[in-house]
Amino acid sequence: MRRMKVLGVDVDAVSMQEALAVLWELIRSPNYGCAYVVTPNLDHARMLQENHDLQAAYAAARLRLVDGMPLVWAARILGRPVPERVAGSDLVPALMASATAERPLSFFLLGAAPGVADRAASAMTAQNPHLRCVGCHSPPLGFENVADENQRIVDLVASASPDVLVVGLGAPKQELWVHRHQTRLRTKVALCAGATIDFMAGAISRAPKWMQATGLEWVHRMASQPSRLLPRYAKDAIAFPKLLYGDFRNPH
Ligand code: UDP
Repeated sequence: MRRMKVLGVDVDAVSMQEALAVLWELIRSPNYGCAYVVTPNLDHARMLQENHDLQAAYAAARLRLVDGMPLVWAARILGRPVPERVAGSDLVPALMASATAERPLSFFLLGAAPGVADRAASAMTAQNPHLRCVGCHSPPLGFENVADENQRIVDLVASASPDVLVVGLGAPKQELWVHRHQTRLRTKVALCAGATIDFMAGAISRAPKWMQATGLEWVHRMASQPSRLLPRYAKDAIAFPKLLYGDFRNPH
């Protein structure tokens, strides 16, 4: 597996199939060590410049997949192209679709608004009989700062012992939370997956494929939640040239 720096972020240059192979290897092992996956995009790259806790969470991740098209572009501009974009929102359903009778899969959905994870779980299990949802939980706002709430989630996950824990709390909360509780989370793999639970439930619509492929997915997302996402994307747009310039100055 090729590890390289793009926009200042260490990423694993792997295809979707290679990422799935790593996940199944972890799932098949008897180890409930909560290896976890992060899905870097331009917004993460910008936050990583200043957020030391996020840097630590990234450093301990098992896989850092190139989720955002700006990272794909930057890798190409740097002359070290990655095989393809591997978005968390594509990876989670692809993993679920790859469960079979010989290798069934259990999962737990953590995050999104109340009821959304249940809908996502029903949508997934309806598509594949070899999938089993062993838990859904929508933690209350601010839960991450409440010891009892954190313990409650750790206990829920422990009693379910899923193969895969899908964590959809938004960045950087999900990465910081999984890293902080990694040693207590009884799951084989945790996937830090942003709004994936919303997408799977149909609560937010995913951009059309052509927009995803051309790097315009952000336009679609911004149109659905402009007041929340416009400031984020504006900051990211300003950060992009600076981060790319940094890559040229410190090639890896
Ligand atoms: N979320 C949550 N708890 C929180 C904060 C966020 O469950 O305390 C959920 C929110 O409902 C949404 C997801 O986290 O489902 C955030 O998605 P976002 O669009 O921020 O994902 P990103 O773009 O960061 O991947």
